[in-house]
Amino acid sequence: MKDENDKLIVRKIQEGTVIDRIPPGKALKVLEVLGVDANYPYAVALAMRVPSRKISLKDFVKIKGKALTEQEIQKLSFIAPTATVNIIEDFNVKEKVLLQIPNHVEEFIDCLNPNCVSNTREPIVSSFDIVSKDPLILRCTYCDRIIEQQYLTRKL
Ligand SMILES: [Zn+2]
Repeated sequence: MKDENDKLIVRKIQEGTVIDRIPPGKALKVLEVLGVDANYPYAVALAMRVPSRKISLKDFVKIKGKALTEQEIQKLSFIAPTATVNIIEDFNVKEKVLLQIPNHVEEFIDCLNPNCVSNTREPIVSSFDIVSKDPLILRCTYCDRIIEQQYLTRKL
């Protein structure tokens, strides 16, 4: 289903990534975790709080020339679990990426425990098991420190 509002705001892109149905107001955060900033060399379109048929308001972004890494997809699933991600080639949807909060994440955020090996010893990177998805609760696999939804909401 095409959303008429989208077409009024921005044209289709030839190749890149379209992230749709982002929770209202989260589009800027989405671009941030994807590393798309003022220096990004290709066209980027962002729309916030657009009326939508399926959910009352939504954000969406269209990023030309952008392919998502596995880690970027993981981060998106935490920030905007309801979003749809479409990979575009030749103006058409080549692939739809299903966002799903994984059971385990690495290098996602730093452990809150300053003495944790993931903070003190290179090259050990942070590593968390997802204890609960709603509300979101992570547990460090090294020191068992719990990170709760409230903290993640501020960070993400
Ligand atoms: Zn830890």
